[in-house]
Amino acid sequence: LTRMYGPLTALSNVHVDVMTALVSFDRVFEVLDLKPMIDEKPDADPLAANDSRSAEDGGGAAPAIEFDDVVFSYPAASEVSLASLESIARADTAPSREVLHGVSFRAEPGTMTALVGPSGAGKTTITQLVSRLYDVTEGAVRIGGQDVRDVTLESLRGTVGMVTQDAHLFHDSIRANLEYARPGATDEQLAEALQAAQIWDLVASMPDGLDTVVGDRGYRLSGGEKQRLAIARLLLKAPSVVVLDEATAHLDSESEAAVQRALSTALAGRTSIVIAHRLSTIREADQILVIDDGRVAERGRHEELLDEGGLYSELYDTQFARQNIPDAVH
Ligand code: ATP
Repeated sequence: LTRMYGPLTALSNVHVDVMTALVSFDRVFEVLDLKPMIDEKPDADPLAANDSRSAEDGGGAAPAIEFDDVVFSYPAASEVSLASLESIARADTAPSREVLHGVSFRAEPGTMTALVGPSGAGKTTITQLVSRLYDVTEGAVRIGGQDVRDVTLESLRGTVGMVTQDAHLFHDSIRANLEYARPGATDEQLAEALQAAQIWDLVASMPDGLDTVVGDRGYRLSGGEKQRLAIARLLLKAPSVVVLDEATAHLDSESEAAVQRALSTALAGRTSIVIAHRLSTIREADQILVIDDGRVAERGRHEELLDEGGLYSELYDTQFARQNIPDAVH
């Protein structure tokens, strides 16, 4: 019967979108009554990097992330229809098209790795493998030297924080939305995170403050405000690894600057993998990986890659150069 869960993730566009919008996955599984398609080994160890959580500010040693010749195909079950049991059976044996074809890289502890590349190249897939939403088909993903398949899911979720473009908020109070990230957080800790995320002033000005109900039927937050709330959640969770899909949504320049400041705080001292859409991010990244058709086509820092005059400089001209940032000299 557990095989049935595979096809159920045919709903996976919903499932993964909602899930990746969250810092904590558990509640989504509760809500959707789905199990992840990954299993914990009976002898799984906790991820050693998770120890850094015990530091009050989450400021323990951040781990390295390694992709070792990773080949990946999405489980075919997510592509088959729910209609036929036969197709469900087939789904177990027929993997779908391969989307990563031997991806290797190392993100050093505490550094930022920016992923750029054409649409459909495999950037989101790479970020999903870091948090083990799926298992690799071949090769390995390691965090702090430990294969993510060998560690407990609880410690992995405690170590890796994800923020995606569409920050999902539950129809509940701001306080409840934040407490998913750190159960039992005091008002002081919540206020501190909201301040660092550049959203405290807004929350403090709401009639019900932290008890204001947000979401579709509650107080309507703008895109930038939702992102900053998601960043506050991330700060409360204090993961040592952050996976981030930067927003493409057009924010006004004031919100954009606020989101940017909040992110710098959220990423400081952590190992981050960022799907980068902003010029300011790629210019700051410790390494940029240019992903093309499921492979790392180029790697290096911004200036180095521009000098190479390859795919990166093309992408730069089409995607980034037009972003009007005053100090963008290139
Ligand atoms: P974008 O910049 O448009 O978000 P991307 O670089 O993040 O693209 P991915 O989303 O990782 O690319 O997609 C890589 C490939 O995997 C694409 O061909 C896509 O169609 C395929 N793919 C993505 N999600 C799934 C899924 N759940 N099941 C099957 N194939 C998928």
